[in-house]
Amino acid sequence: MKVAFIGLGIMGKPMAKNLIKAGYELSVYDQNEKSVEEVRAAGATACRSSIDTVSDADVIITMLPNSPQVKSVLLEDDRLADYIPKSAVYIDCSSINPIASREIAAALAEKGIEMLDAPVSGGEPKAIDGTLAFMVGGKPEVFEKYKNVLSAMGSSVVLCGDVGSGNVTKLCNQIIVAVNISALAEALQMGQMCGVEPMKIFEAIKGGLAGSTVMNAKAPMMMDQNFEPGFRIDLHIKDLNNVVDAAKTVDAPIPLTQQVLEMMKVLHHDGCGNCDHSALLRYYQKLTGEILHR
Ligand code: NAD
Repeated sequence: MKVAFIGLGIMGKPMAKNLIKAGYELSVYDQNEKSVEEVRAAGATACRSSIDTVSDADVIITMLPNSPQVKSVLLEDDRLADYIPKSAVYIDCSSINPIASREIAAALAEKGIEMLDAPVSGGEPKAIDGTLAFMVGGKPEVFEKYKNVLSAMGSSVVLCGDVGSGNVTKLCNQIIVAVNISALAEALQMGQMCGVEPMKIFEAIKGGLAGSTVMNAKAPMMMDQNFEPGFRIDLHIKDLNNVVDAAKTVDAPIPLTQQVLEMMKVLHHDGCGNCDHSALLRYYQKLTGEILHR
């Protein structure tokens, strides 16, 4: 099966390499020539434009930053939608606004081309290991036909509903992670200020109802003041802005998301946009002057 892969960044590069390892024939493109060269060296055919990747592809995958880039490639600047073979499927693995996913799917449907939106959770380590979690939107028969392509890059592939549902689910994931990290930062900061060692708080509560994957991953980072990404604040701001846009269309209340988004914007303006999202702690440290320790 021939796969066109566009967008070879932190996530796209290892995902493309895992498809090559699984035996797929890949044509790849990115604006960054270095990234294209790296994936070519791993066995892909390097292309000079997005259009060059798709001529005889069975599957077209994009892994781009956000809705404007995906729309630019598919519908606006590159107009890839005009070049995708009718027999092929388009799978967008980028985390974008679900409204944009549905717009792109509608434009492709007019040309008889099927689409799945399939954003991921897991970050670079899981992209490298091929253990990403895919949240997929699209028709069940299209999902079943192409599920194996996604399984070559992930350990969990779940159909969530129609096109757009993958990105709605991803936004739900991003709300829960953001609010969870800020609650953790708020609690550890308050606990230390009230005279209890943060490590003792962590050890005492991690096995109970408050415990979480977020707590296990981020509490040690916070206590070590280690904000190496991980997942960058700026990317999380992008996702929460997409939450705000999506919620507006259905009048969904999102007070917690709005609050954490404001906190992340403050951190961005403080030059912390490239820090891991565990740097939400810095918002509290700035207000109190108190630095969390182990
Ligand atoms: P990235 O910025 O590292 O990579 C994006 C790539 O797209 C870059 O290589 C860039 O050159 C390329 N690109 C941009 N516009 C292009 C265009 N018009 N034509 C061709 N190439 C173009 O981003 P990433 O971290 O790989 O993230 C990709 C998506 O995955 C985002 O939507 C992100 O939110 C999501 N995601 C990221 C992580 C993570 O931990 N980094 C985790 C889960 C999901």
